[in-house]
Amino acid sequence: MSTAEISDSPCRVAEEEPPGTATTSFAFLQVPDSFLLSTGEGPPTGPAWPLLAWKPPRRGRSSSGTRAFRRLYFPDVPDSQWNDWRWQLAHRIRLRAELERILVLSPDEQEAIERGGDLLPFGVTPYYMSLVSRTDPMDPLRRSVVPSSLELVRVPGEADDPLGEDAHAPVPGLVHRYPDRVLLLATDFCATYCRYCTRSRVVGQGELPPREDRLEAALEYIRRAPAVRDVLISGGDPLAMSDDRLEWILARLRAIPHVEFVRLGTKAPVVLPQRVTPQLCRILRRHHPLWMSLHFTHPAECTPEVHAACTRLADAGIPLGSQTVLLRDVNDNVPTMRELVHRLLLMRVRPYYLYQCDPISGSSHFRTSVAKGLEIIEGLRGHTSGYAVPTFVIDAPGGGGKIPLQPDSVVGRAGDFLLLRNYEGRVFRYPDPLE
Ligand code: SF4
Repeated sequence: MSTAEISDSPCRVAEEEPPGTATTSFAFLQVPDSFLLSTGEGPPTGPAWPLLAWKPPRRGRSSSGTRAFRRLYFPDVPDSQWNDWRWQLAHRIRLRAELERILVLSPDEQEAIERGGDLLPFGVTPYYMSLVSRTDPMDPLRRSVVPSSLELVRVPGEADDPLGEDAHAPVPGLVHRYPDRVLLLATDFCATYCRYCTRSRVVGQGELPPREDRLEAALEYIRRAPAVRDVLISGGDPLAMSDDRLEWILARLRAIPHVEFVRLGTKAPVVLPQRVTPQLCRILRRHHPLWMSLHFTHPAECTPEVHAACTRLADAGIPLGSQTVLLRDVNDNVPTMRELVHRLLLMRVRPYYLYQCDPISGSSHFRTSVAKGLEIIEGLRGHTSGYAVPTFVIDAPGGGGKIPLQPDSVVGRAGDFLLLRNYEGRVFRYPDPLE
């Protein structure tokens, strides 16, 4: 990506656009620098997620930060457009000029944009941008979606495809790593690109379009693999596809007798909650049993819009689980993670996995030590509801699959007794006779 490209055009011209993107004309307001540099007025500039007594927000009303953002940057856009997922996709912030009008870019962010190179594409929905701090480059949500020059740093142990997915792809866009499960990469398009994406080698490249011929080849492979009982549809983001395309895939999967279980892996309810329409829910509930893995990163993502989206999905009978990547200076401390898992439970989302960040090329600034993940689990287990505690996993490099890790609770043995450590650090004897 050359400087000119990011300056004058979408960050990646090869990026596959979603179907039916809106054509509404749009112009950013010119915002005086004095406002952008101030911290006393306008949208909040720091974390807007009080740590105590969070309640699921009232439905139908955006947070104050989102309302202020709209007044500033989209004053003439009516609710009917703002709440339309196609409008949100069509107006994603993708250009340098757009980004500079909204954020005060740090020198590091400017350098990332200027050097570009092979960086993951950049794209953020207006809705999600409304949650990002205008002035603080260390804001957790901003760090997760705005490029940093540290993405250009490569360290030993990193790889473009650390999970070895390409080596387990019998047809393009289908990963078959476990005997009874496959991963169907339905599209490589995402509404918002996460800077730490495990599939950054693929997403936004336009190489995995949701075209019938490509998808039919993947479906045919599944039809011929009777051991496959579980299909995870991911990407990219499957909810970035049209209703028709999604239903086309689901109906064909459901027609395969040995496919028992279908899952959707998506971040759309978090970055594009407008996507969860009543029509989408009607489609999804036609294809039960259908489960959904949502990708949450931080408690600030739990907004009224996201709560409403999760409620619609849960009311459609879809079990919701959250997958969270452990990210340095984003969510790598117990209070933040505890707040996130509590908010998720209140939105009827079960914290499912906490992932150690994969060693993707250019991800060293996001990765923590493994000990940090264990410390967080230790800070949750026993200190809060069991349903709130995710399983901490490392996806083994090279395709070894997920390996769960947990703090040691067996601390030894005393004859016929096992010595077990509880969440307070106290040791208990449990009868466990030796044979
Ligand atoms: S939504 Fe998922 S696939 Fe898309 S960029 Fe984020 S992590 Fe990657």
